[in-house]
Amino acid sequence: MAKAQKLVQWEPNDVKDKLLAKYPPKVARKRAKQIMINEALENTTPTIEANVRTIPGIITMRGCTYAGCKGVIMGPTSDIVNLVHGPIGCSFYAWLTRRNQTDAINDSNANFITYAMSTDMQDSDIIFGGEKKLAAAIQEAYDLFHPKAIAIFATCPVGLIGDDIHAVAKRMKEQFGDCNVFAFSCEGYKGVSQSAGHHIANNQVFTHVVGKSETEKTDKYKINLLGEYNIGGDGFEIDRILEKCGIKNISTFSGNATYDKFASANQADLSCVMCHRSINYVADMLETKYGIPWIKVNFIGAEATAKSLRKIAQYFGEKELIDRVEAVIAEEMPAVKAAQAEVYPRTNGKTAMLFVGGSRAHHYQELFNEMGMKTLSAGYEFGHRDDYEGRHVIPTLKVDADSRNIEEIEVEPDPVLYKPRKSAEEIAALVKDGLEFKDYEGLNPAMEKGTLIIDDLNQYEAEKLVELMKPDLFCAGIKEKFSIQKLGVPMKQLHSYDSGGPYAGFQGAVNFYREIDRLVNSKVWSYMKAPWQENPELSATYVWE
Ligand code: SF4
Repeated sequence: MAKAQKLVQWEPNDVKDKLLAKYPPKVARKRAKQIMINEALENTTPTIEANVRTIPGIITMRGCTYAGCKGVIMGPTSDIVNLVHGPIGCSFYAWLTRRNQTDAINDSNANFITYAMSTDMQDSDIIFGGEKKLAAAIQEAYDLFHPKAIAIFATCPVGLIGDDIHAVAKRMKEQFGDCNVFAFSCEGYKGVSQSAGHHIANNQVFTHVVGKSETEKTDKYKINLLGEYNIGGDGFEIDRILEKCGIKNISTFSGNATYDKFASANQADLSCVMCHRSINYVADMLETKYGIPWIKVNFIGAEATAKSLRKIAQYFGEKELIDRVEAVIAEEMPAVKAAQAEVYPRTNGKTAMLFVGGSRAHHYQELFNEMGMKTLSAGYEFGHRDDYEGRHVIPTLKVDADSRNIEEIEVEPDPVLYKPRKSAEEIAALVKDGLEFKDYEGLNPAMEKGTLIIDDLNQYEAEKLVELMKPDLFCAGIKEKFSIQKLGVPMKQLHSYDSGGPYAGFQGAVNFYREIDRLVNSKVWSYMKAPWQENPELSATYVWE
């Protein structure tokens, strides 16, 4: 059967106009500011509006603050009991739905990730308050599991009825003596998206856990890997590579994290930031309080992985490590290159769209570039302007009324533990040699001129974009997956990886090439129309003719 010919005829301004055409004027005006035609002028791209309130009724892809706090940052931890204070829905829907993998055995030999723990609030708790029930649930969790820590998460009603979860946590912590209990005021209505939950989680983990470890980490090249959540085993693959290089990742925020790993983060000599959006607050606070510099890394894409390893080696600056990193890259690359060469003729020239959370819409372009695939359009659910335009815009960002209630904590250098890892001269020399500290250039400069960058894409716009620009692949999440596939376009989930992965590191790149090749070149897409719809032909004749 002949495949329908693709007619890709679009012009970015025209696409933008068509996306906005059906909206009422006020909505069109708002959305116009969140749809940007990229100028690709290296950090001088026009501004995009981001991290603003979602338009009611627009079918956003966004989630809530609780999802960003419990689901993203704290959920992946294995030996902390994560207890949700609220009606059952919030806990149930977050039960193992993010594919954060954990080791069965860790430093405290406890792993609670398979549980969904909730206070299961009822009408009477809303009316009379839920503090007593919360205290009883904490006690029960302590009696059953004897964990090192219990984390409590507020959901929507908790803030409204005035339950003081922090007071309950403090009281229970004092009562137990050997279990750290702390709480997160991450009610779903705070902020405008998951992003506020990241910030709340960063603040509380930093305040209540970091610096509390009693075990000294004595490895030579110690780093923190911040903003890596071990989806589909990504973190395992990164750790495999780091270990091969002789680099010790002492604390991941928070893929396969344990209480002790969080608590030891102050002992690292360098923080490496993967997902800038979710964890840049902790990176900054670790630097201010303990003197640990941070650099941006990306382990998505084989070339990006090699580049990130070289940056780490450059920071430590010792020949032994630099040589080892080069040897590992040389050893790992042939298999990657072989897989790339195999798929390239079938993937080269294909087009993709990426609408994912707050970092992957950028990171995954590395893998697509390696396959010769071009990104036509990308955007974040909850990125801020610095994730699009680069951190240089941070001083110009204004906190609007919707995000003003998210606490900014003041951090001072620790009187005992502050220790600058490098002198000002050493940092200056590294900067001169091209290593950038505390910097992230954002998504926009990585994309070509004329591409469309869209913040908080909604269901209508997703379908319209596909109709207008006809990409060969669309990447987003579970809510978009099936509606896009019904339009005849392959859809790859870049949150859950469609049960695949890992995609990070060298072996991850090989997995990704193969899966994308299989997906975009599957014959199934040529069967979307019935034969008589593709080739209508009149074959019947009437007897009297
Ligand atoms: S919006 Fe509120 S009710 Fe919904 S999941 Fe988030 S915290 Fe729970």
